[in-house]
Amino acid sequence: MKVLVLNAGSSSIKYELFDMSERGALASGLLERIGEQRACLTHRLQEGANTHASVREGKVDDHREGFEWIADALGQSGGIANLEGLIGVGHRVVHGGEDFKAPAIIDAEVIDRIRGQIPLAPLHNPANLVGIEVAMASMPNVPHVAVFDTAFHQSIPRHAYLYALPYSLYEEHHVRRYGFHGTSHAFVAKRAARLLGRPLEELRLVILHLGNGASAAAVVNGRSIDTSMGMTPLEGLVMGTRSGDLDPAIIFFLSRATGLGNDELESMLNRDSGLKGISDQNDMRELLRLAESGDERAKLAIEVYSYRIRKYIGAYVAAMGGVDAVVFTAGIGENAGEIRARACSGLDALGIRIDPKRNATRGNEAREIQTDDGKAKVLVVPTDEELEIAEQTLDCIRRLSA
Ligand code: AMP
Repeated sequence: MKVLVLNAGSSSIKYELFDMSERGALASGLLERIGEQRACLTHRLQEGANTHASVREGKVDDHREGFEWIADALGQSGGIANLEGLIGVGHRVVHGGEDFKAPAIIDAEVIDRIRGQIPLAPLHNPANLVGIEVAMASMPNVPHVAVFDTAFHQSIPRHAYLYALPYSLYEEHHVRRYGFHGTSHAFVAKRAARLLGRPLEELRLVILHLGNGASAAAVVNGRSIDTSMGMTPLEGLVMGTRSGDLDPAIIFFLSRATGLGNDELESMLNRDSGLKGISDQNDMRELLRLAESGDERAKLAIEVYSYRIRKYIGAYVAAMGGVDAVVFTAGIGENAGEIRARACSGLDALGIRIDPKRNATRGNEAREIQTDDGKAKVLVVPTDEELEIAEQTLDCIRRLSA
């Protein structure tokens, strides 16, 4: 019983093939630079605890040819890591707008509705759609399911999703908070409950997804009630290259002061801001190393980054009326103990206290890192967005056939 997960970007396709009876990955890979002179497919075959990687390079004209490369790689994997026994394909779709509150079996109507969300995600949804159309043509005999980044946050109440702008902008242009990283927050919430040995339905969680992109979510009884990313993934926490929250009047000020146009300002906020804007470096590993060697800008970037997280933890504890666990995930959340310590420093009044020794312990397993007397749990939980998409795909297919 296999499920293939596909994440199609404008010039790349990420994939992972799961055996759903074991919940384990059989093979995965990334095809990059579609449409350029030299595309590169890195294919990883899982054999027990061992991973065998292979690389193929050459020209790949479009996504259709890209899928042929991926199907070839899976076919040549032999053994069990091919598409035999495939029961469905799960597609990551970035924006489902207000239309999609759950995964959907893809048909012509669903494709139209995803197309309808393009104004909200002009870069991502068209690439996701190309992936869907090509994959459906290549694998027509299994159901294809769309799993949306935004769906988990559709439970956010209107007082938390509405911006204080003229109401007509919400009605006519759908301007509101949507939130992203939904599959990661959903996955991590379930794993956190399992680690705590308590039902998800009675937990108040602050989840901090700290990767290159970063977002916080307040999750009550398994439902998102607020999240830091907004109408787009630019709002909220400081990120690798994205500014996160800022005074909107800065944009008008900069437009007048520098003469930069909308596109240039948008690019600056998305690509040249955040950690990179402050310190010229967006990789947290490198920043921690630079800070250790005395680099003042690196130290400043880390301070601004951690302080923003701390503010969001406080805000979400207030929004939830208390907290049972603060959960760290993704590249930085899972690996950077120093950032976890800084983000939780000074939060004793909220019952949040990290144990330095537990925090310094490394590992790939979900774990608790609070002090023995800390009222709130503090957890490190590795995320797996692809496995969550596979699980949601399987659920959706089972509901269809029930
Ligand atoms: P992601 O987008 O989840 O892959 O996360 C990428 C971010 O995680 C980058 O800023 C990396 O520098 C950071 N990261 C990965 N491993 C570590 C580590 N061991 N220590 C600190 N940061 C890390």
